[in-house]
Amino acid sequence: MTNSNREIAVDAIVVGAGFAGLYMLYRLRKLGLTAKVIEAGSDVGGTWYWNRYPGARCDVDTAMYSYGFDEKLQQEWEWSEHYAAQPELQRYLSHVADRFELRSDIWFDTRVATADYDERNASWTIATESGDTVHARWCILATGNLSVGRIPEIPGLKATSLPVYHTGNWPHEGVDFTGLDVAIIGTGSSGIQAIPEIAKAAKHLTVYQRTPSFTVPANNRPRDPAEYAELKKLYPELRRSLYAGEIYGAGEPLEPGSRFRRSVAIADASEDERRAEFQQRWDRGGGHFNGAFVDILTSETANEAAADFVRGKISEIVEDPEIAEKLSPRGIPIGTKRLAVDDGYYATFNRDNVTLVDLRDDPIAEVTDSGVRTEKSERRHDVIVFATGFDAMTGAILKIDITGCGGASLREKWAAGPRTYLGLMTHGFPNLLLVTGPGSPSVLGNVVCHIEQHVEFIADMLADAAARGEDVIEADLAAEDAWVERVNHQADQTLYPRANSWFLGANVPGKPRVFMPFVGGIGLYRQICDQVVADGYAGFERGKANQSAQAARG
Ligand code: NAP
Repeated sequence: MTNSNREIAVDAIVVGAGFAGLYMLYRLRKLGLTAKVIEAGSDVGGTWYWNRYPGARCDVDTAMYSYGFDEKLQQEWEWSEHYAAQPELQRYLSHVADRFELRSDIWFDTRVATADYDERNASWTIATESGDTVHARWCILATGNLSVGRIPEIPGLKATSLPVYHTGNWPHEGVDFTGLDVAIIGTGSSGIQAIPEIAKAAKHLTVYQRTPSFTVPANNRPRDPAEYAELKKLYPELRRSLYAGEIYGAGEPLEPGSRFRRSVAIADASEDERRAEFQQRWDRGGGHFNGAFVDILTSETANEAAADFVRGKISEIVEDPEIAEKLSPRGIPIGTKRLAVDDGYYATFNRDNVTLVDLRDDPIAEVTDSGVRTEKSERRHDVIVFATGFDAMTGAILKIDITGCGGASLREKWAAGPRTYLGLMTHGFPNLLLVTGPGSPSVLGNVVCHIEQHVEFIADMLADAAARGEDVIEADLAAEDAWVERVNHQADQTLYPRANSWFLGANVPGKPRVFMPFVGGIGLYRQICDQVVADGYAGFERGKANQSAQAARG
């Protein structure tokens, strides 16, 4: 990275040019504000810029994993498949950037290092790693929930001469696995997508699995033109019902009407009805499997029935019963780690060139120059792929050294876990706004519709403040405490806290174990936000810069 030493002043600085940052910039411009987006990558795309591993594709029907804010855009853009692959998502976001001429306000290849709040002027000063400075009234973090990849510390790894890759930071030129003996560590959503593709390309693939995950087939297919035309007519209704939380989680399959709305409790279905419902959803494909019964994430009985169904499928698909058993999750409620959506995952373990190593039985001891040594054996590899996930939800925010009122550090404030009001702001850090921050539903479901809702909330709040001549907004401490309490309480009513998931920060050694997303669903969350607005942005303290400075000076 070269030193650029640019210095500018704008109304708003946005960090990140993925789905959230692009739409935020678009809305800020509509408000007549000057804005700059700072992006570490060389192009737009965020997650879809970095995650280019083989098999990377959307785990939600992409027609709904797309912007709804512009009617012409959603009518004109053509998705080729139900679950678009990374290159198509990248093309889409690139198209959006070009279509709305967003690139001129984005600094690429630039990473934000620090953000400091100046109480006297009620403004933020952002410094980049390459020496730029930006002064802005509003600092908006659109940094993504899954953007800081993590590779675990394993003895010998730093010293190995073997090529090592992480799925979340994949080389743009791709990796040619032809003729290679490949190791992959990690069997979450990324590993589950990469494993079938790498197995097809490599001479041999060894899968190092610590915890088996539940996954359901995507049943991906090209879009049928007639069906797609019909869907486009239904976009307004589909998006309305998705935003209202009437269709399960990510919003699929794409059909309004009772068939795919939240259904009945498992106790109200007979054995045959249960099986038929699961089977129908399994055949159709996609993560809406977990919407089969309304209580799958709250009732152990319902959850166990869904989990049993999937375990039954594993034993049908995987020919070797011992391997099938190793692949079968037990003791972790289905859906409490994000349910993966795959393309031939379990069948991949029937291939002659695929080996499964169960790390619960034989943990990794070290990485050497020739491969991986476990406690019981040693295997030679030419390359190691880490699909070991992310420092999720707080990682990208806390990577920036952020100081608020009185020089308080956000890292210190969140040392025991993130504290926000609605996942949008955190007390003591005025004018710092988070898009899909911890405490919002964000990652539970279709993140694009959550992003749109947050961006619109933020834009409306800034417009309202401007209309009142206010330029300082801060989360009220009591409102924040009550919200944190509510997020925790709501999570405790579900089975979610039972899994060591990244939702809880449990995948990062030393990270506080706090359930970070709001589990009440987008429908309820939206109602709460609408009420906050109706009550004059209740829970947000608002004022004028000089008044705040006077207050700060006492
Ligand atoms: P992840 O769900 O956190 O999975 C990481 C995997 O690495 C787990 O199997 C974990 O095992 C394993 N692991 C971690 N540390 C390890 C160690 N020291 N030794 C051995 N194994 C280790 O990460 P991810 O698969 O990248 O997915 C993260 C999230 O990204 C997903 O939940 C999803 O929300 C999103 N995602 C979405 C898509 C999509 O839209 N299509 C695709 C990929 C990812 P343990 O379970 O034992 O910790």
